[in-house]
Amino acid sequence: MTTNKNPGIYVHIPFCVRKCNYCAFLSGASDEALRERYVKALCEEIRIRARLMSDHAHGVFDTIFFGGGTPSLLSSDQIARIISELKANFNIASEAEITLESNPATLSMESLRGYRQSGVNRLSMGVQSMNDEILKRLGRIHTAGDVIRDVQNAREAGFDNINLDLMFAVPDSSLETTLIDIEAVTSLEPEHISFYSLQLEEGTAFFKEFERGELKEVPDEIDRAMYHAGTKLLKEKGYEHYEISNFAKRGYESRHNLKYWNMAPYLGLGLGASSFIDNSRVMNVCSLDEYFNLTGKGLAPSAEVHENSEHDNVAEAVFTGLRKVEGIRYEDVLGSYEKFWEYYSDVFEEACEYEREGKLIIDEEGMRLTSDGIDISNSIMALFV
Ligand code: SF4
Repeated sequence: MTTNKNPGIYVHIPFCVRKCNYCAFLSGASDEALRERYVKALCEEIRIRARLMSDHAHGVFDTIFFGGGTPSLLSSDQIARIISELKANFNIASEAEITLESNPATLSMESLRGYRQSGVNRLSMGVQSMNDEILKRLGRIHTAGDVIRDVQNAREAGFDNINLDLMFAVPDSSLETTLIDIEAVTSLEPEHISFYSLQLEEGTAFFKEFERGELKEVPDEIDRAMYHAGTKLLKEKGYEHYEISNFAKRGYESRHNLKYWNMAPYLGLGLGASSFIDNSRVMNVCSLDEYFNLTGKGLAPSAEVHENSEHDNVAEAVFTGLRKVEGIRYEDVLGSYEKFWEYYSDVFEEACEYEREGKLIIDEEGMRLTSDGIDISNSIMALFV
């Protein structure tokens, strides 16, 4: 896998039909008028950011990622307007990967054709499960039947790069339902699958149930058994495991998400979006009123700006890079084995202990987690922060 350092663009669309029971993302209800107002403000932010960044050379942006929320609540005309505003203001590669996150039951044949024509060439769908009971438990608005229909329609509309998100360790699920879900999802032959564990987040409906004692978390050992059995099955189905939670047919890794794990720069636009650009981490405001107010005055809607220190850059490169199955190369982080372990001499012994336990592989080129190491990835990554 090449380490592409071209910048990417993330566009946040903070609207959903209704809140899922586990969701802590920045998203809420909307009507057509609010969505249109948001698209106009977003186009304004694009112009503001382009003006502010015009003094710096940022190279060619080769990915655009519409995330949410539910970006497929925007019409294809609105998505097309945002893409053309981006192209008018930034240097966008002609073969850029342009991903749209979507949710089944918010797509129609017409909207899919429209998205494809507007330049979207990768469709990501929040499937989560192919079991209608589990979908209901998660508070999703769709059924397994909607997924099957929408994937077929997406193919017909010309999408040849589709990701399906699948969740495991959901309350009331089992190892068996997890593997049945994988069988059902892989039978749709997506090019990419994200397979990740449910996290109980504060402020969600599930968290409240948990506090009332009405929701039992899936025990850690079962969560891990689901992960390893799921990973094995996905590999048997021809998907390469390239990041802790991500699997792809060869050549279909998410170019955009790889930017996060490779410390490539990205510009985040929209409500609450974060950027890593010009060596700074920037986070946008999270209140819609503030977002409209600032963009309306021609001001950047930034809430926080943190300039990365040299240590931030090293620590983040290790932390995010270890998420990749291929791990990190010293060359990309600090230049060489000697320099890397001189910098981290205080944790060298602990890292070697993880290696002896079979959790980490350390060689002359770099370092990577083993399959067992993934189970305690946070503890290993924390060594380098
Ligand atoms: S569709 Fe996604 S972003 Fe929207 S509420 Fe559900 S989990 Fe959250």
